[in-house]
Amino acid sequence: MDKFLWINPVAAEMYDSPELRQQLERRGFEVVACGRDHIAAVREKYRLALKKAEGCLADMRCPLAVDYIKAEYNPPFLEYPAIEPILLHCARELQQRLEGKGRLYVTTPCEALRDLGRSLGLPGVTFLTWAEFVRQEELLLQKAPLQASPIPPGFFAEYGARGIMLDSKEKIDEYFSAGPRQPAESILELLYCPQGCHKGNGV
Ligand code: SF4
Repeated sequence: MDKFLWINPVAAEMYDSPELRQQLERRGFEVVACGRDHIAAVREKYRLALKKAEGCLADMRCPLAVDYIKAEYNPPFLEYPAIEPILLHCARELQQRLEGKGRLYVTTPCEALRDLGRSLGLPGVTFLTWAEFVRQEELLLQKAPLQASPIPPGFFAEYGARGIMLDSKEKIDEYFSAGPRQPAESILELLYCPQGCHKGNGV
């Protein structure tokens, strides 16, 4: 059976190299990429959601941040739009393209995105953190730590003062521990790891 691999952008930036590609080829993996611009598609979904929102909109790209806020604060003013993280948009595109051709391995930068991916039950798809995939395949890698995420904070910068960036657990705690209130912002950018996914627990 053919084996396809999608390397998430964080892991690609940290580890992709000719040596990695050789190791993957020897293990029978074909590395695949998305054909559509899912970043633009997700941005557009938030634009549409903002038009309909009555309260303040939560960024749903980081499942750990969303779950944490719901569990710890559950603020009444926050709305949770049904917009999947960008990574899941990629996974769905690849799954549709490759269904019936082999198994697709989708790597994630953290366990939270892995678990959300698994919860979809996409046929023929295995979600693993990048670190789990590396261990499973016994790859030998040189890590190149990143100073910034390939998808850095600022996803909603176009909204200016209507948005606020909470790009760490500490900032989330600081914002929500101020108590119940109707915020001035229309949208909250939410990332649990400091400054983004390059600090995820799966890379
Ligand atoms: S890597 Fe960190 S910031 Fe990115 S989605 Fe996962 S938990 Fe959120």
